Amino acid sequence: MSDQSVDITIIGGGIAGLWTLARLVRDGYQAVLLEADSLGCVQTGASQGIIHGGTKYALTGKLTHSAQSIGQMPQRWKACLQGQGEVDLSRVAKLSDHQYLWSNNSLASRLTGFFASKVMSSRMQHLKPADYMPPFNRQDFQGEVYQLDEPVLDIKTVLEAIRTQYADRILQLRVKTIRKNTGGKYCIEDDKGRAELCTGTLILTAGAGNETLLNTLGMDKPKMQRRPLLMPMLKASESVLPRLYAHCLGASALPKMTITSHALGKGQMVWYLGGEIAEQGVGRSDKEQIRAAKKELHKLMPWMDFSACEWSVLAIDRAEPEMPDGSRPAEPAVFTQDNIITAWPVKLAMTPLMTDKILDQLKQRGIPDNGQQINILGKPARTSELPWEKTQKWLT
Ligand SMILES: Cc1cc2nc3c(=O)[nH]c(=O)nc-3n(C[C@H](O)[C@H](O)[C@H](O)COP(=O)(O)OP(=O)(O)OC[C@H]3O[C@@H](n4cnc5c(N)ncnc54)[C@H](O)[C@@H]3O)c2cc1C
Repeated sequence: MSDQSVDITIIGGGIAGLWTLARLVRDGYQAVLLEADSLGCVQTGASQGIIHGGTKYALTGKLTHSAQSIGQMPQRWKACLQGQGEVDLSRVAKLSDHQYLWSNNSLASRLTGFFASKVMSSRMQHLKPADYMPPFNRQDFQGEVYQLDEPVLDIKTVLEAIRTQYADRILQLRVKTIRKNTGGKYCIEDDKGRAELCTGTLILTAGAGNETLLNTLGMDKPKMQRRPLLMPMLKASESVLPRLYAHCLGASALPKMTITSHALGKGQMVWYLGGEIAEQGVGRSDKEQIRAAKKELHKLMPWMDFSACEWSVLAIDRAEPEMPDGSRPAEPAVFTQDNIITAWPVKLAMTPLMTDKILDQLKQRGIPDNGQQINILGKPARTSELPWEKTQKWLT
């Protein structure tokens, strides 16, 4: 790939980089994407695939800023899934059309009042017990279930759908250093110090890798924060673990547990656990976290038998722009300095918003969208396996 030149180079092949590439090419920009390993191999592949519309963040009882900015996202993604949006996702598999919220009995009355309020009533439906799905469709479940109009996607098919459309522009290359040459272009070097590609504009969508890339350019801003998670996973046959995409509501805005289900083949199902259990698990050993998850699941679903399950955990950081109090940013972040754009979507669901901001920046800076063809040679990138497919060690 040496000594090649391109207008725009995107570094990082998670959802942020792939979505940006798709929008740029569609708008006539000459762009390529470089991915260090495999597409989606860090946060995107590890995500739960939920296209939030902000309901989760409105659980304090009023629409927060977060809930408002994310509110339009399910519609934008749905247009893409129907092949009518900004990125063609018509070949993507939906795991579920809806996600659900459930509460145990003690919370039900408080929540009923809240959900009946004007703030939320247009966004969710209070299900009648006759419509409850497994594992809630039984007499000994005394709580409430709400259905949200927010889909859950099979992330591997999202990555694969974009990869196949733009395969000639998606290359596997770990960017080690970036230097500015005398002509003002950014020259990208691989981990052996070979100059591979020179570019006029750089878009950094490398997640946690943005920090290192900025450092190689001698920049210490924008600053980044990492918010770690320790995500438990349990697997068993689908008769033990039914398909479920649901948040269990606790007393705070953060769900006590967010469960998504992922088929492993041969009738095996994985439940992947996010929310409070994953946040509070940071600092625990794997075994301690598995013990805590077992205890919590038993408390939340005392009628279920998890004794046949095998367990594992995934330690992973969320990479985001730095916030003064270390909290989750409400919106995607896009920073521009010279001809370098650094971006974090903050949530998978908010990637379209992030890309709007990037396109605004390119237009404002007069970067040409002259529809040039591209002929960049290099090793094509493949799509990553998902965490439960990669996990070798499962404990009982
Ligand atoms: C456990 C978990 C669950 C989540 N669940 C959800 C959810 O259900 N819904 C939701 O909306 N959001 C969710 N999120 C958030 C969401 O996953 C992230 O906001 C989003 O995936 C970030 O995408 P990204 O492309 O910025 O980063 P990443 O997916 O981390 O991609 C960055 C890419 O850059 C590459 N890279 C790094 N350095 C270099 C380099 N030097 N050269 C070349 N390439 C490089 C990496 O290999 C990687 O592929 C979740 C996050 C986590 C961690």
